[in-house]
Amino acid sequence: MKELFELTGKVALVTGGTHGIGMAIARTLASAGAKICINDIDQEKLDNCKKEFQSEGIDVYTLLFDVTNEEAVDKGISQIENEVGDIDILVNNAGIIKRIPILDMPVSDFKQVIDIDLVAPLIMAKRVAPKMIEKKEGKIINICSMMSVYGRNSVSAYAAAKGGLKLLTQNMTCEWAKYNVQVNGIGPGYIATAQTAPIRVGGHPFNDLVMTRTPANRWGEPSDVGNAALFLASKAADFVNGQVLYVDGGILANFGYVK
Ligand code: NAD
Repeated sequence: MKELFELTGKVALVTGGTHGIGMAIARTLASAGAKICINDIDQEKLDNCKKEFQSEGIDVYTLLFDVTNEEAVDKGISQIENEVGDIDILVNNAGIIKRIPILDMPVSDFKQVIDIDLVAPLIMAKRVAPKMIEKKEGKIINICSMMSVYGRNSVSAYAAAKGGLKLLTQNMTCEWAKYNVQVNGIGPGYIATAQTAPIRVGGHPFNDLVMTRTPANRWGEPSDVGNAALFLASKAADFVNGQVLYVDGGILANFGYVK
């Protein structure tokens, strides 16, 4: 059974993986033996993340590039291929959210979210998939959202992008599953990252809303998402194609969102 989840010798790239959910995914894949590469657009985040992993005895390869820039992606992936190896596992994790009502949202802001959350996973996959197809083996994991399947006030661009990413995941599957390349998504619920620490206190209205909506009665841990990524990156998921695994404590099972 342990062999099913063994990733020794595999190279995994987690985009925007310098902290939070991406870092937890990288940590979990590393614990299964994968060689970890992490990119970001922020050098300071890359340096801090490398130091944190080093303090845990995990060696990571970090690289600065913008996932929306095709030329930079091509250069970055070539560098990883030359210095670490071909990418076996791609986790499209980099993402942004803008909370602006539709009528107030500049189209340029809408396009920026679509570019990072939807177009960038396409750019990354287009660069990485050909080698996976050639080798007849590969895993692509797109980090989606609960908003891949429902809307909410003031997150139109994010929901459009993440809904699109779910369908892009399914379409990549239709084209690449026959080459033994599995493309799947993960839809995290409310996850307890450093950024949400200030509001994760009893009595805070958003904390109360999360507790009301989540049947599991707790925030998700970044490691909950990491564990799902390990499953999808492993041989255990070799016949899992085009799915989005919602790691949300049951929110999407709970119509109306009130327990
Ligand atoms: P985060 O904002 O903490 O980290 C995202 C990282 O992506 C940042 O370090 C940022 O610098 C990097 N990034 C942004 N634009 C980039 C670009 N153009 N090129 C390269 N890197 C870039 O995000 P998070 O909260 O850890 O979430 C990670 C993923 O999970 C995102 O896709 C997000 O939409 C999704 N998600 C998060 C939650 C949550 O509760 N935090 C819930 C559902 C989905």
